[in-house]
Amino acid sequence: MLREQTRPDFSVGKGSLDGRIRDEGTATERFSLDDAKIIYNFPFNDLLFQAQSVHRENFDPNAVQISRLLSIKTGGCAEDCGYCSQSARSPTGLKASRLMMVEKVLAEASKAKAEGASRYCMGAAWRSPKDRDMDTLVAMVEGVKALGLETCMTLGMLSPDQAATLAGAGLDYYNHNIDTSEEFYPQVITTRTFADRLETLANVRDAGMKVCAGGILGMGETTDDRISMLVTLANLPEPPESVPINMLIPIPGSRLANAEPVDPIEFVRTIALARILMPRTHVRLSAGRTQMSDEMQALCFFAGANSIFSGDTLLTAENPGEDHDAALFRRLGLKPMDMGLSQ
Ligand code: SF4
Repeated sequence: MLREQTRPDFSVGKGSLDGRIRDEGTATERFSLDDAKIIYNFPFNDLLFQAQSVHRENFDPNAVQISRLLSIKTGGCAEDCGYCSQSARSPTGLKASRLMMVEKVLAEASKAKAEGASRYCMGAAWRSPKDRDMDTLVAMVEGVKALGLETCMTLGMLSPDQAATLAGAGLDYYNHNIDTSEEFYPQVITTRTFADRLETLANVRDAGMKVCAGGILGMGETTDDRISMLVTLANLPEPPESVPINMLIPIPGSRLANAEPVDPIEFVRTIALARILMPRTHVRLSAGRTQMSDEMQALCFFAGANSIFSGDTLLTAENPGEDHDAALFRRLGLKPMDMGLSQ
């Protein structure tokens, strides 16, 4: 049964949606695409009021979970994701590197912990991990966990065996973004399908790990594509525990270098919809924060975002540094989320 406190009150806004919310006996409400469109198009103040109401029923409204992301293997990727600086198919000028040594990863993770991170994410630019790399990956997971950090990896597609191996090593989260709607997806990536993405997410879940899956706004997709992406995530057998929402950083040389920037209000609306559709998920402001004003980030936090990446870089992209984030947290009265509270 649904937990009563997670049911949004839709008496505010354009009529009541409450009767349309399907109770399928799962942990969160399920919404149809049409319902999600109605919510997305609420007057802005109503939408944010609902999102903030749902948010504070499920989380400390002033706590933000802080993750750190390290590129453990950069560039030279065989995939053709149109937004990415690391695809070998795009002339982005990025120099490829080999898989990092375990000792170096652990030294970076120790620093991140000292700087307040509670989750350490390790990303490799691969279509999928090679079996010969699995022992090294396992040693990284075990070492980072031993430091007292939550662990996350993003390594591309995972087979059921690879997922089981990483889960056995204690990997808490696996990130694999669906990127956009199923309809728009073929315009962004052609080397693996939307169904491939969902299969990896199912393998991760079946292995007992938590799921981190989100997408990117500003790739030329429509508003309906953004809504559809969130509905897909919310309607997974179990919604992801983390949903990163990225704003495209146009990379010179990549196929999406000249994509139209997303309207900031539309971005905030998307965050609010993610919060309402997935009440107990950590919604993360991910790549693109350097292009957001402090005011836009503040609106995103009000709309229900409660996770960020800290540090100067995100894989190969710029990120606001620690000092800027600390100042923003002070101005907004935000605090880092305790690990014990993070899901
Ligand atoms: S997003 Fe990942 S899979 Fe796609 S090209 Fe970049 S590194 Fe490769």
